[in-house]
Amino acid sequence: MSAREYDYLVVGSGLFGATFAYRAARAGKRCLVIDKRPHLGGNVYCENVEGINVHKYGAHIFHTSNTKVWEFVNSIVEFNRYTNSPVANYRGELYNLPFNMNTFYQMWGVTTPEQARAKIDEQKAEAIAALGGREPANLEEQALSLVGRDIFEKLIKEYTEKQWGRSCRDLPAFIIRRLPVRFAYDNNYFDDKYQGIPVGGYNRLVDGLLAGVECRTGVDFFKEFAGSWREIADKLVYTGPIDEYFGFRAGKLDWRTVSFKTRIENIPNFQGNAVVNYTSHEKPYTRIIEHKHFEMFGDAVYACPKTVVSEEYSVEYAEGMEPYYPVNDERNNAIAEEYRRLASKEEGVIFGGRLGQYRYFDMAPVIEQVLGLDI
Ligand SMILES: Cc1cc2nc3c(=O)[nH]c(=O)nc-3n(C[C@H](O)[C@H](O)[C@H](O)COP(=O)(O)OP(=O)(O)OC[C@H]3O[C@@H](n4cnc5c(N)ncnc54)[C@H](O)[C@@H]3O)c2cc1C
Repeated sequence: MSAREYDYLVVGSGLFGATFAYRAARAGKRCLVIDKRPHLGGNVYCENVEGINVHKYGAHIFHTSNTKVWEFVNSIVEFNRYTNSPVANYRGELYNLPFNMNTFYQMWGVTTPEQARAKIDEQKAEAIAALGGREPANLEEQALSLVGRDIFEKLIKEYTEKQWGRSCRDLPAFIIRRLPVRFAYDNNYFDDKYQGIPVGGYNRLVDGLLAGVECRTGVDFFKEFAGSWREIADKLVYTGPIDEYFGFRAGKLDWRTVSFKTRIENIPNFQGNAVVNYTSHEKPYTRIIEHKHFEMFGDAVYACPKTVVSEEYSVEYAEGMEPYYPVNDERNNAIAEEYRRLASKEEGVIFGGRLGQYRYFDMAPVIEQVLGLDI
């Protein structure tokens, strides 16, 4: 055993850091987990408001087809039967998502897959004919040639423009490669084998992962440990922003972010669904999340007299905001590649998670990565 106090100093208590610490503790390793936020759990952290778990950093729905990952998370906490089935609101008209027979019935009154396919094919053909043999030059042309005018105009155009802050004609075609359409009455958003929300909320998953592990919150690695961690730990697991670790020496990476306006409503049921997308410019937000529907079903919705809703807005990233999504353009990809090269040479340091690798990962792939590590 090394003379140092810890085998691992883990920076960040999100799902990467917490799962790593869980496995390390079971392997008999001594771990210290630090997080600069005042709470554990990273972006899956929930705040309890009026008895409702509010997803503070954005709605999180666990989904995977990986049985090993599903069994692992269920060994920590039971998962409920939540199934993501968002609804789109276009100027007061409601449509089921993802695009499926319910959507096509609502859009055109068609009732059979054959009728729906004929309608889509007719509209696609119009868009493809308008291109006159050339490739789609922008997102608008691309989406029109994939699903036709009605679906594009009511469910894609303005929603995408709110997300990106630009006209679909000014966005590149490659953003939308595929637009899956389902010729079945199936509103289940994910194709995965398993999905759900931890019973009692994500904090129970994080608490289970970190039970018995030494954790300190409100501790910034760069203020307290950056120069000295090798004195106390053999290895470092770093899940913060990769550019910050290297002092931004190859440049600052950009992020895309979202902001939330959360309020309590004095009614038990505001919109009857966890996720409602607002697909027109009429509303400035992209969606409204009603948090109780992730965990309360049937009568339980009414047993809790209030509800909490969050409007979600797309905003331009600025210094000091939460870094949420990596930006996959040429400049950022090149900078990130340089940091990953530096990271691969950094002795005794494991760079993990979405900030530490500058890659977007859902929760399950993050856990899968940690389960695959040699600890
Ligand atoms: C808006 C949004 C919605 C999402 N929805 C879903 C979903 O529905 N389903 C799904 O599967 N995935 C979803 N995800 C992805 C999910 O959030 C990630 O997979 C998960 O958070 C990754 O965990 P992580 O440990 O890498 O990062 P994080 O959870 O971000 O944890 C990193 C931690 O490191 C800490 N840290 C950073 N720097 C320092 C420092 N200097 N010192 C100390 N601590 C530091 C941070 O405070 C943070 O707590 C969503 C992501 C976003 C942004």
